[in-house]
Amino acid sequence: MTRVYNFSAGPAALPENVLREAQSEMLDYAGSGMSILEMSHRSATYQQVIDSTEATLRRLLNIPDTYRVLFLQGGATLQFAGIPLNLMRTKRAGYVVSGQFSGLAQREAQKYGTAEVLATSEDTHFDRIPDLNPVAERAASGELDYVHICQNNTIFGTMFHELPTCGDTPLVADVSSCFLSMPLDIERYGLIYAGAQKNAGPAGVTVVIVREDLIENGPALADICPTYMGYKLQASKGSMYNTPNTFGIYLCGKVFSWIEEQGGLAVIEKRNCAKAELLYELLGNSSLFHGTAQCASRSIANVTFRTNDPELDARFVAFARERGIEGVKGHRVVGGMRASIYNAVSMEAVKALAACMREFEETQA
Ligand SMILES: *Cc1c(COP(=O)(O)O)cnc(C)c1O
Repeated sequence: MTRVYNFSAGPAALPENVLREAQSEMLDYAGSGMSILEMSHRSATYQQVIDSTEATLRRLLNIPDTYRVLFLQGGATLQFAGIPLNLMRTKRAGYVVSGQFSGLAQREAQKYGTAEVLATSEDTHFDRIPDLNPVAERAASGELDYVHICQNNTIFGTMFHELPTCGDTPLVADVSSCFLSMPLDIERYGLIYAGAQKNAGPAGVTVVIVREDLIENGPALADICPTYMGYKLQASKGSMYNTPNTFGIYLCGKVFSWIEEQGGLAVIEKRNCAKAELLYELLGNSSLFHGTAQCASRSIANVTFRTNDPELDARFVAFARERGIEGVKGHRVVGGMRASIYNAVSMEAVKALAACMREFEETQA
């Protein structure tokens, strides 16, 4: 068996130990005589799985007791609707549009009320996080139910290095591609959400962490909010209003424990920064490749780069594949290359990619 160096943006690399552990438990979970895949979500054994998954996540992120943790389905995409349905009490919210997903979130919210664009970097093809001063100003008016950002822009390779100041207006963040790649100060947010398949587990689980007071009165748009999407109900049912993604949550729990064994999120962040710096330094010194994100906005999770020639980009992707390096093709809306260097992508893998880039550059010299 050969495992490749996997730089996929999501679903993405998972820690090998996690996969092996799941493999060893596949036919008989914890002496139950059945697979976790075959087990009732109402069983005591499964209750323990979901409880310990949540407990580990709470330890990792220091989640205060005043926040609820939900494990839902439908991806980050379903939350684009779930957020306005639950939080748009005056039917007016603010959105920072810094890439593809934040644009989709804004347009989805526009179905349910007014989703004001407070700032955007569309004018420079989303190569940066926009100036956040207008966001702070508008948030201070107290006229917005929440301010929404996408904290790490998976496609464009940019991330927020500081959060907008929102005063009493809740900050809502799509953290799909930076979730668990660094510590987060949960109290800065009203709600964060993340599809698991980037950095936290398999596709099919979406983690929502929400401040309890924002949901205690039920969904803002209760008459049209699907029962399933009601955060208050899901919180009261322990994410089991209906059958959850039992296997996905179990695997997320294993990833959370793996992060804890690595030393927690501060250790993980250091590693991720070192991996990113190695690639950005190479890009800074390369005469063939260049990074596409402005320096001050560069992501530590998704490193986007290209040559000046789409044909050469395609040749590089093929060249990398021949060397066991997969998933470096850029997203179809931007082209070029993207190395997603999530937690389970080792420094060894990043060094292999760097060596491959240098080798390719030499063939072009
Ligand atoms: C991948 C991604 C999404 C979409 O996630 P789905 O789980 O496919 O709905 C949304 N936002 C961000 C930031 C992403 O990286």
